[in-house]
Amino acid sequence: MEEKLPKLKRVVLAAPRGFCAGVVRAIEIVNTVLQLLPPPIYVRKEIVHNRFVVERLKQRGVIFVNELDEVPDGATVIFSAHGVSPAVREMARRKNLRVIDATCPLVTKVHLEAIRFAQQGYSIILIGHEGHEEVEGTMGEAPHCTYLVQSVEDVERLQVPNPEKVAYLTQTTLSVDDTAEIVAALKRKFPKIVGPRTDDICYATQNRQNAVKALAKQVDVILVIGSQNSSNSQRLKEVAISNGCPAYLIDGADHIRTEWLIDAESVGVTSGASAPEILVKQVIQRLQELGATEVVEFRLTEERVQFAPPPELRELLEQNPLVDEILPVR
Ligand code: SF4
Repeated sequence: MEEKLPKLKRVVLAAPRGFCAGVVRAIEIVNTVLQLLPPPIYVRKEIVHNRFVVERLKQRGVIFVNELDEVPDGATVIFSAHGVSPAVREMARRKNLRVIDATCPLVTKVHLEAIRFAQQGYSIILIGHEGHEEVEGTMGEAPHCTYLVQSVEDVERLQVPNPEKVAYLTQTTLSVDDTAEIVAALKRKFPKIVGPRTDDICYATQNRQNAVKALAKQVDVILVIGSQNSSNSQRLKEVAISNGCPAYLIDGADHIRTEWLIDAESVGVTSGASAPEILVKQVIQRLQELGATEVVEFRLTEERVQFAPPPELRELLEQNPLVDEILPVR
């Protein structure tokens, strides 16, 4: 039996944490398709950026692919929550694939803004992380006139054809504070720049960051549950650290290292938008094994956002007479 940590007493759970409405919807889409359509079911990229979720779906028979050339013509494919570029949609058409689109509606909103700005002749500056699937999808809407920036330094170096006609958009899962600095730099450089009608950083990203910021003032160390390739989880770790609290991003309870907690009396726990609550429960259990005797939740705000399934799935559900019995399971 492992020694308990002598100082550890309290676990404070941030709320909101974990699954956002876009992730719930994406996972429910896959689960529903698994029940309604014959195998094999393909998913392009990780449906959401979480190892546990992806492994569970693999066990249920889902085949994950990186690109559509790995999918046989005529098969069923689900697009991930991060969205795809028009070039991917076009390839799906050419291959006669049956597409079920799990793109989060808040990502689709950014795509529509990109299309609108491009049609109006703007140069579009997208604030985001190079190589992230969401960024690739959004840039693909108007590749000829979209410029990616990741920092204030990028803004300083940036050249566009007409500095009088510039618009900006952002990835949905960025750090609210870092993005505000980049937007301020853009406004200094391009005083006539226009932005999206409403903030592109999504409600779930903002709420989780606000909660972790408040948590950082109450605890000695923060554990963020989420996978390394999850953008919003990485941002939660950074927000905690920039607010003065040591923080670690872990996939689950097995990744906790006792040396992180050796001087901690209180440990904060939060989880990224793609991390399931079962992982939080396992982390709490591990912290209790290490000596925590009190578990409390610190809730900053309530979330009641829900998204409807995509039309192609609604159609499938309507065609199925057993619809009430087979409705999605998480
Ligand atoms: Fe949608 Fe935001 Fe969740 Fe991404 S983090 S899936 S944009 S709700």
